Parts: sequence; C-alpha cells; structure tokens
Amino acid sequence: MNMKRVRFILATRNKGKLIEFQKLLPEIDLICMDDIEELKGLRIEEDGKTFLENAIKKAKTVANISRSPSIADDSGLVVYALGGRPGIYSSRFAGEDATDLENNLKLLKEMEGIKDRRASFICVIAVSSPKGKIFTYEGRCEGIITEKMIGDKGFGYDPLFYYPPLRKTFAQMDTEEKNKVSHRAIAIRKLRDDLPNIIKALEDEACR
Ligand code: IMP
Repeated sequence: MNMKRVRFILATRNKGKLIEFQKLLPEIDLICMDDIEELKGLRIEEDGKTFLENAIKKAKTVANISRSPSIADDSGLVVYALGGRPGIYSSRFAGEDATDLENNLKLLKEMEGIKDRRASFICVIAVSSPKGKIFTYEGRCEGIITEKMIGDKGFGYDPLFYYPPLRKTFAQMDTEEKNKVSHRAIAIRKLRDDLPNIIKALEDEACR
C-alpha cells in the first residue's frame, strides 16, 4: 500500500491496545487519548445498546473534540445459551469494578449444567472523520466455553474461551498466535484493507 501517512487518535488510554493496533496497522500513525491535551480527562460513557453504538459514540466524540480522525473499538463475549450475555457488559459482568477472575467465576457459575457452550468474541471498530463520517468493521471468533479456567496468558475471558481450530484456550496462546485469529485482529485487518477508502474520504473532507 502506498499512501500518505495519516495520524489517527485511538480512543483508549490502554497502551497495550495502542501497541496491538499499531502493530497491525503499520501504514498509519496512532496516538492515544492521553497524548492530546483536550482529551486527557475525558471519560466517555459506554451507554449504547450494542458494540456498534458504543464504538461509534467513542470514535465520534474523540474526533469531534480533537478535530482529528479517530478509531475506537468495543468488544466482548457473547454466549449463545445466555441469550448473548455478557455482551456489551463483558467487563462488568460480575459488577461495576469486577476483576477478570470475578467475571470468569460468574460465567462458570451461570454455565453450570448447560450443554450448549458455544460463544463468540465480537469486536466492532468505528473510524470517525473530524466531521463525523463513520466507517465500521466487525470481527468475530467462534469458540466454546470450557468447564474450568485453562491457561495463564492473555486477559478477560481468555482462560474460558476454547478455540477448536488450534485446540487451545485463548489463555494458552501467546500474543502472536492470538493476534492471528482473534476477533480484534479480524476487525483490524478489515479496517486495514479499507484504508485507501478512509484516507480518500478524509482528503475529500479536508478539501470541502
Ligand atoms: P474492551 O472493549 O476492549 O474494553 O473489552 C471489553 C471486555 O470484553 C473486556 O474487559 C473483556 O472482559 C472482554 N474481552 C474483549 N476482548 C477480549 C479478549 O480478547 N479476551 C478476553 N476477553 C475479552
């Protein structure tokens, strides 16, 4: 890909997420919210009903305040037998400030005796131009909820998410391996493939 380098603000304060996105998007420059003075204290409430609504809200808010193009993601675990829960509430399944361990234990409890253990990790990414033009991308990864925690790598629900093609839970994979198959990596790859369209739209908007 041969195009002008554009700088995007990633709507996060998580340096780990910034590094992961930057690695998978080498053609653009990414900075995080804390690198921009007006965004330093900003807290964006995730009050949407879907991953899509939350991702769009974050991207639009950051782009509007900073007047720079922005990228935001929202992700979580969707369990079939639980009617899609924890879904957008994944990080607070066991309560507002719940730890990963508490969330995992709550999931195990809710899944006790349930045979259908299918689940998907979903990630939705929204890109917003300074004037609010939106592009969205979704990545999904299908797996099975295990009956106990297995593996000590990763974060969140990784120890309970068994990925059949590699016969491992996400917590048994190192970052490189997980980044080849994860919902986030799939969504980021779709964004990367669409970069020429995004950059063209940003250029058109700047000319107007
Ligand atoms: P966020 O959208 O990155 O803030 O993620 C929301 C929540 O979904 C996290 O706090 C985790 O509980 C869960 N989650 C999202 N992606 C993953 C993953 O790759 N592994 C494990 N848990 C995840």
